[in-house]
Amino acid sequence: NAAADPFGFDATYAALPERFYANVQPTPVERPRLLHLNRPLAAQLGLDPEALASPAGVEVLAGNRVPESARPIAMAYAGHQFGNWVPQLGDGRAVLLGELVDRDGVRRDVQLKGSGRTPFSRMGDGRAELFPVVGEYLASEGMAGLGIPTTRALAMVLTGETVRRSDFLPGAVLTRVATSHVRVGTFEYFARAGDQDAVRTLADYVIDRHYPELRAAEKPYRALLEAVARRTAELIANWMAVGFIHGVLNTDNISVVGETLDFGPFAWMDDYHPAQCFSQVDLGGRYAYNQQPDIGQWNLCRLAETLLPLLADDPETAEAEAYAALDAYIPAFEAAYHPALRRKLGLASVQDGDVELIRGLFTRMADQGADFTLTFRRLADVSGTDASADGPVRTLFADPAAFDAWAEQWRQRLAAEGRDETQRRAQMRAVNPAYVLRKHHVYAVYDAVRAGDHGALNELLTVLRAPFDDHPDHAAWAMPPTAEERVPMTFC
Ligand code: AMP
Ligand code: MG
Ligand code: MG
Repeated sequence: NAAADPFGFDATYAALPERFYANVQPTPVERPRLLHLNRPLAAQLGLDPEALASPAGVEVLAGNRVPESARPIAMAYAGHQFGNWVPQLGDGRAVLLGELVDRDGVRRDVQLKGSGRTPFSRMGDGRAELFPVVGEYLASEGMAGLGIPTTRALAMVLTGETVRRSDFLPGAVLTRVATSHVRVGTFEYFARAGDQDAVRTLADYVIDRHYPELRAAEKPYRALLEAVARRTAELIANWMAVGFIHGVLNTDNISVVGETLDFGPFAWMDDYHPAQCFSQVDLGGRYAYNQQPDIGQWNLCRLAETLLPLLADDPETAEAEAYAALDAYIPAFEAAYHPALRRKLGLASVQDGDVELIRGLFTRMADQGADFTLTFRRLADVSGTDASADGPVRTLFADPAAFDAWAEQWRQRLAAEGRDETQRRAQMRAVNPAYVLRKHHVYAVYDAVRAGDHGALNELLTVLRAPFDDHPDHAAWAMPPTAEERVPMTFC
């Protein structure tokens, strides 16, 4: 009944053949305590926040009680990790409880992450530490606040247990909400095992659930590949425009719906450098900021390979079809990225020399260690005609004269456009956030939360949910790290 099970889960993925997943129960935790509930998201999912926050709700969010309507499974997938084929990955520390249709009619997965071992755990303990859970919770809210497609986080629960890593660390369970947990690696899992029936079943599932408009296409599987290519291109263009580095763009972390998936060693850049990367294990810089567009394409090639037998009977024709579908990637990326850059600079039209102008700014930002987010945000607020009040932005550059020289060209370009200043500023402020989740802020919130103080967490969530507003009372969360706060990173 509804009182005992306020979730009313549905289970379309668990209705697929048994080799798509393992039936598995979450492993109960010792002392579950709700750390945070995403109330707006709960409401969007049609769930009652009070019921979720109640002891019975927290039991569910901790994995200690499985609602009657849930059919918990761990999904099977494989993937290319740092370019190397890994035949079996799968949900090693996550359990999909089921699906809910949200207020907009979108079917969303509800998954517990850190909920114990599964048949896919390999050497892992199936658990999650509090630090990355806090990071993912904040990052997915920040990404959503920027208007970029992403998985969401519904809740964080402390387990009352420690997790053994290099040290004993507090454990937590995150409830992740995703439009899809099907990854490029899910297709690879079946394709590389030669299970063509499963690849077709999966492709049909993805079309029916996520791309129903393609069902009527002349070549639905080719249309699927093209649609995934477009969404991936647009997602990565969005990331590039806000200085986001995913960090681990393995094929098992690439959602087939173009949603940001798996926040691990992610970062929004502080000072701009095109080759910045954040994963300590990514020694070759494979997933550096400026590699992301190419890596997106590499990952889509892996998806294309899995679909070849569905594209045509004749291998040569199939390959030609795949290439034709993948041809959508670069134009889709450029169609999203170039206008995004123009909007970041307040340019309303396309003119000769725009590329040089934009490149000129990025080169100077890199050379002068200018903060990515603040440079664009503060540029919105300076005058388009008068350089005398450039202080806030020019001082972000180690040598402010480097900015001055560029700003002169920018002002000439603005003058040539003759756009209304108020309009230009408003438009720039609407695309250049004041607030992104900075790495040192994750540490600050983590330390506060461990000390029992939720103030920092709530404040940071407030600004990340409305990152284009000024929030004068919380302006400290817009600031780059000081030398001491700086989180070490690798340049590749
Ligand atoms: P990720 O690096 O988060 O993309 O995870 C890669 C793979 O490792 C996935 O199959 C995860 O389920 C698995 N994994 C990561 N951490 C753990 C853990 N603590 N226990 C079991 N499996 C894990
Ligand atoms: Mg992953
Ligand atoms: Mg991860």
